[in-house]
Amino acid sequence: MSNVLVFAETRGGEPRKVAFEALTAARQLVDSSGGGEVHALLAGAPGIGAKASLLGTYGADVVLVAESVDLSTFARESIAATIADRAKTGNYRAIVIGFSSQGRDLGPRVAALLDIPIATDVTSIAVSGDSLTVKHPAYANKVIMTLVVAGPQAVVSIRPSAFTAVETPKAARVENVAAVAASGPTVIIVEVKEGAKGRPDLGDASIIISGGRGLKSADNFKLVEDLADAFGNAAVGATRAVTDDGWRPHSDQIGQTGRQVSPQLYVAVGISGAIQHLAGMRTSKTIVAINKDKEAPIFKVADYGIVGDVLEIVPALTAAVREARKGH
Ligand SMILES: Cc1cc2nc3c(=O)[nH]c(=O)nc-3n(C[C@H](O)[C@H](O)[C@H](O)COP(=O)(O)OP(=O)(O)OC[C@H]3O[C@@H](n4cnc5c(N)ncnc54)[C@H](O)[C@@H]3O)c2cc1C
Repeated sequence: MSNVLVFAETRGGEPRKVAFEALTAARQLVDSSGGGEVHALLAGAPGIGAKASLLGTYGADVVLVAESVDLSTFARESIAATIADRAKTGNYRAIVIGFSSQGRDLGPRVAALLDIPIATDVTSIAVSGDSLTVKHPAYANKVIMTLVVAGPQAVVSIRPSAFTAVETPKAARVENVAAVAASGPTVIIVEVKEGAKGRPDLGDASIIISGGRGLKSADNFKLVEDLADAFGNAAVGATRAVTDDGWRPHSDQIGQTGRQVSPQLYVAVGISGAIQHLAGMRTSKTIVAINKDKEAPIFKVADYGIVGDVLEIVPALTAAVREARKGH
């Protein structure tokens, strides 16, 4: 097949996990359909090009570097215009973008600029003949739709963590490209407020410890924080019941109306497992649930379940994790 163009998402000048996942998806698509090249577009402040070789590690044949002071923050209109401009050349069958906050913004812009279809929140992509076929979960993951995307070119926006990033090292050729200025009104970012310092973003974390109303109070979230610390580099999430009660910020909410995550390990602490919560975490690789009610729905999706009081189990688990990780 022809080539695939990937938007290599960055934050703070570093490529994000979803960028490596998008490259992996593109690589698999190209390699399984008769060959072609994977091109990654890396856009950011001057100096961002230093990260090009990292994209080669995850399968980019070519890294297109667009450096500009105007791209120092997420300049959505300009980045979309730069992607669209490039997509008109280079024989690209698909443009792969993460279905992250940035990607949810960029994908439709690119599709509109090019007047091509877009498939969002995609968990698998395949080419058969001339057709691009994708899978798209819907109704809180209750159904998986198979969609055939019409036309010779499409934007495909992949669900974070649905594709596991795989290293397929290439000595990527680096090409500088000009950032295309936005035409029309632009969003100006006036302030960026950082979330919890020292913890990975929920979308990037390979381990998430998540708490629910079973913790009884905001203060008891300290137990969740301690368990996350014991693992070394875990993120902390929460249910909507907890964020609505103000125990945690809304940015921590996981579920249908919160963040969708798929870490290697998800520990659900005092969470009932309402369908809206499951919609955001049920694709996690390994799920551990701690709940005093053995009939709690969370146990239906859990790989490991502990029936007991979180106020007793979590400190014991934290001590056990610390012991097991001694020296790490
Ligand atoms: C339109 C809509 C969208 C929604 N979106 C979301 C969403 O995005 N994310 C989300 O999470 N929810 C969402 N909800 C809310 C959802 O329906 C549930 O109300 C919520 O997930 C419940 O949170 P919880 O599990 O913390 O609390 P509860 O349902 O109250 O469960 C608490 C659990 O803790 C257990 N427990 C209690 N005490 C202890 C103890 N000492 N030790 C161990 N276990 C204990 C209980 O057995 C129970 O299972 C949405 C709802 C609607 C209607």
